[in-house]
Amino acid sequence: MTELYHRFEGYDLLKPLLDGSHEDVLVALAGKPALIRIPGTERGPGARLIACLLHGNEDSGYRAAVDLLRAGAHWPFDLWVLVGNVRAASSEGWFAHRYLDDQEDFNRVWGAIRPTTRMRRCAGAILDELASANLHAAVDLHNNTGQNPFYTIAPVNDAETIRLASLCCDTLLLWGQRALTLMEALSAYCPAVAVECGLPGRLEHAAFAARVIDRFLSADLGNIDGHAPSRVLEIRYRVSVRREVPFAFGGALTDDVDLVLRPELDAHNFGMLLAGTVIGRASPGAAMPLVATDMQRRDTTERFFRITGSGDIVVTEDVIPVMFTTTVEQTRRDCLFYVTRPS
Ligand SMILES: [Zn+2]
Repeated sequence: MTELYHRFEGYDLLKPLLDGSHEDVLVALAGKPALIRIPGTERGPGARLIACLLHGNEDSGYRAAVDLLRAGAHWPFDLWVLVGNVRAASSEGWFAHRYLDDQEDFNRVWGAIRPTTRMRRCAGAILDELASANLHAAVDLHNNTGQNPFYTIAPVNDAETIRLASLCCDTLLLWGQRALTLMEALSAYCPAVAVECGLPGRLEHAAFAARVIDRFLSADLGNIDGHAPSRVLEIRYRVSVRREVPFAFGGALTDDVDLVLRPELDAHNFGMLLAGTVIGRASPGAAMPLVATDMQRRDTTERFFRITGSGDIVVTEDVIPVMFTTTVEQTRRDCLFYVTRPS
């Protein structure tokens, strides 16, 4: 055991921890991430990594990964498994927080050149180990907080990464941001993608994550046949609520709520939000409470939104939104939604 995270080689010390429920396994991990290597049965083939729970409220990939490890199998290649923010997943209930108030987002700390925090040192140490693991591919499993189809996010638009992405899902989102995510850091070594397995807390989404893992581990990565994703979108803009504006989804404007967003906007994810759609309401005379930025963080708010004299917030151009969330916490901790373009 190291100071910053648990480290397991093979099943010997790991097996007893896997008894009991998925929540019992979190208890056994006692608030620290875990990095596991299951040695391959052959020498030579490149290693593969499955990451999960970088966000503590996203349980689907974690449940699938624990079930995989319980089966105790070996593969021709080394299998690495990373279990991320155990502390957030086991604080104030189970799988209740993306990250805790005293933490950073564990998927925004990878590849920081001079780590300033314990979490960044932890990420740096894990990345150092993975850099010498001869990784050939990596899949990082996530959930969304709103309704979305299953999709893969690729940080790099190259043939190998797109093939890996299409092995996981039919829909692909190209991620142009530089945000210190795990997949961005790993893409320096191997094709690396994130897979979004729908809403958390649903058995069928853990089952989907298990199918992704199965396809990933059984594929001959050098010979994935040429099936391409059926739909490719590129993230172009990020929309958030201005920091100082207290807001809610649904309900009425009050002394404590300066912006009410329409609930169920997530129904538009990967569909279309048409020009003229009213997505929320602020007080008459209020200034625009939303902010949109492009991938270079330039302000593009006026291009997409306007506010009427009576406080209606109107979309001014047809857009394809993705990852529209339905919670205030997720909006604060990531954003309200992203605007994409077909690629
Ligand atoms: Zn996530």
